[in-house]
Amino acid sequence: MAQLVIGLDVGGTKVTGALATAEGEVKRLIRERTDPEEGAEGGFRKLCRIVEDLKETAASLGSQVGVVGVGFGGPVHFETGTVYLSHHVPGWEDFPLRERLGSETELAVVVDNDANAGTLGEWRFGAGRGVEDLLYINIGTGIGGGLISGGRLVRGWRNLAGEIGHMTVRPEGPLCTCGRTGCLEALSSGSAIGKTGSERLGRPVSSEEVFALALQGDPIARSVLEEATDALAFAIGAAANLFNPKRVILGGGVSEAPEELLVRPVRERLPLYVLPQSLEGLEVVRAQLGYDAGVMGAVALGLEEGKLL
Ligand SMILES: [Zn+2]
Repeated sequence: MAQLVIGLDVGGTKVTGALATAEGEVKRLIRERTDPEEGAEGGFRKLCRIVEDLKETAASLGSQVGVVGVGFGGPVHFETGTVYLSHHVPGWEDFPLRERLGSETELAVVVDNDANAGTLGEWRFGAGRGVEDLLYINIGTGIGGGLISGGRLVRGWRNLAGEIGHMTVRPEGPLCTCGRTGCLEALSSGSAIGKTGSERLGRPVSSEEVFALALQGDPIARSVLEEATDALAFAIGAAANLFNPKRVILGGGVSEAPEELLVRPVRERLPLYVLPQSLEGLEVVRAQLGYDAGVMGAVALGLEEGKLL
């Protein structure tokens, strides 16, 4: 009997579930909004219902589900699949998600944070195909990341590797959500670009408006983006010197900005921060999975770690 995989992307405002083949062909996609008021228990019930639904679809196709991969929006203890906390919803502290979802659905379950899942997704199905050493950076409201080195996802001993968003880029810089100052996230995330833009333009603007103004040639918006892309190049350079990736993949909402305002300036600034030998052949590209990156990452996580297919 053909085996399929379920991917679940658990974010702050929505949960997405996909039933897919090992080649990443999606047989069914379910997207539901979540309400933070429901808390962890309500969110968990929703996950169980989506899995049951997708299991029935698999059965109707004459297939079974081999594994469920879950990409979670917050740090996770990978071996046990226990969530440390959610970045978005209170009540997930120390939630044994792997154990509870496994016993509820009678399926093998793998849980990781959404940045690691996103990295695996781009590696298996997107812009990272065919490369053994890559750095993935998701630039949205915050900045997350992950790295593949020698054909393996690097997790670190507490599954906290890849936190490039909290690399200190300017020690005297703005305050970050983590409580420290000058992190990449506090300089180059969508919210940081919006905040700096608002301060300098003297009115509230979103990061999208800063990009639009820069495209029209507005000097203030341009200077905001120059600083943001320089900080990004600095962090990429530090990472590249450390593990010599072949490809850097920029994903998340902010990465959809015009090439000339993000990817190109990052490329142009890299020689300042990377050893010439490491820079040679280093590619900086945009992610390919777009809106479904999270759920396809969860599918890839299930395939990578489930060892069932
Ligand atoms: Zn930080």
